[in-house]
Amino acid sequence: MELSQRVQKLTPSSTLAITAKANELKAAGQAVIGLAAGEPDFNTPENIIQAAFKAVEEGKTKYTPAGGLPKLKEAIQQKLERDEGLRYELNEIMVASGAKHALYNLFQSILDEGDEVIIPIPFWVSYPEQVKLAGGEPVYVTTDESTEFKVTADQLDSVLSDKTKAIILNTPSNPTGAIYSREELQAVADWAVQHQIIVVSDEIYETLVYDGEHISIAALGEDIKKLTVIINGVSKSHSMTGWRIGYAAGDRQLIKAMTDLASHSTSNPTTPSQWAAIEAYEGDQTFLREMNKTFKSRLDAIYPQLMEIPGIECIKPKGAFYLYPNVKETVRLCGLDNADQFVEELLETSLVAVVPGSSFGSPDNIRLSYATDLESMTEAIKRIKQFVEERM
Ligand code: PLP
Repeated sequence: MELSQRVQKLTPSSTLAITAKANELKAAGQAVIGLAAGEPDFNTPENIIQAAFKAVEEGKTKYTPAGGLPKLKEAIQQKLERDEGLRYELNEIMVASGAKHALYNLFQSILDEGDEVIIPIPFWVSYPEQVKLAGGEPVYVTTDESTEFKVTADQLDSVLSDKTKAIILNTPSNPTGAIYSREELQAVADWAVQHQIIVVSDEIYETLVYDGEHISIAALGEDIKKLTVIINGVSKSHSMTGWRIGYAAGDRQLIKAMTDLASHSTSNPTTPSQWAAIEAYEGDQTFLREMNKTFKSRLDAIYPQLMEIPGIECIKPKGAFYLYPNVKETVRLCGLDNADQFVEELLETSLVAVVPGSSFGSPDNIRLSYATDLESMTEAIKRIKQFVEERM
C-alpha cells in the first residue's frame, strides 16, 4: 500500500531492534538484564489507584472536556504555583494523554511547513519525529561532555535563521541526566526573548533531581514566561506511565488551538486517569521523596562501578534515571567498529540490554537506565566489565 510522504519520513527507532532482540532472548529462556527501561520500576502509589477505582465506581466514566477536567486543571494550576512559583489561568493549561501527546499537539499548533525547531543533541527520540510530522525541520546543535550536555547561547546563535520558530529544552534530561542551572537557563531565556523564539520546556523529570535543583525557564521573568510552553505530567513523577496523563501550560491562544486539535482527534484523556492524576497532585507527596531517595542511592552505588569499566567516560548525572557514558575508547579497546556494534554484541553474548546513543543523536554513547533493582544493575555492570576485559 502506498503510504503518505509524512509517515515515510519517520525514522524507525533503533531502540526497537534492541528491545525486540532482548525479548527474543528472554522468550528463549535466557537471563537477559534490561537496562533500557524508560519508566520507574515502582508501582503507582495506592492512594492514586484507589482514587481511580472510586471514580469508576461513582460513574465518572464519561467524556470530559477535551482539554481535561476543570478540577484537574486546578490541581495543575496549584502544582505550578507551589513548585515553580508560576501563576497560570485555567485557560492557559491543557491536559493531554501523556506529555508526548501534549508535545504532539504543540508542534501541530505552532509549526508551518519549513519552520525550524532547534533540538540539542542528545535528544529524546520523539522530538525530531514529532517536528517532522508537523511539517517542521529539526535543526540540531551538538552538545557533549565539555558543557555537561547543555546548550549555550553562542551555539544557538550559530543556527538561528529567519525560519527558527522554537527550541526544545529538556531539563532534567533524557538521556543525559543533565540539569540546567539558573545561569544557564538565563542565557537561553535572554536569547529566546531577544529573538522571540518559543521555548518548549519539557520538565517531565522535574521531581527526579539528586544534585542541584530543578528550575523552570518560565520562572525567570514575564517575558520568557510568555514564550515558554511547559510540558510535564505524572508519568515519571508518580510512576504512572500507563495512565497517560500529561499537560501543557502556556499562551492562552496556543492552549486553545491544542485543545481544539484534541477535540477532533483524541478527545479527552481517559476519565478515571484524570481523577487519579488529581489525587497524584493533591494527595500525599511522600512517595516522591521515597522514589527520589531510592534512585539517588542506586546512582551513588552504581556510578563508581560503572567507572571501573576500561575506557569508559561518564559525567555523574544530576537527575532523571539514566547514565550516559561515552564508550568511544571502550569500543576501540574491544576492537569493535562502533557503539551500535558494542550494544548488539553485549546483548548477544553477555545478555545485557542497553540503548545505543545513536538513537539520541550521539553515536559514541550508550544509555543505561537505573530504573532496575540494584542487584540486577550490579550484575549487569559486572557483565559489561567482563565483556570488555575479555576482548582487550
Ligand atoms: N519527554 C521525555 C524527555 C521523556 O523521556 C518521555 C518519556 O519517556 C516523555 C516526554 C513522554 O512522557 P509521557 O509518558 O507522559 O508521554
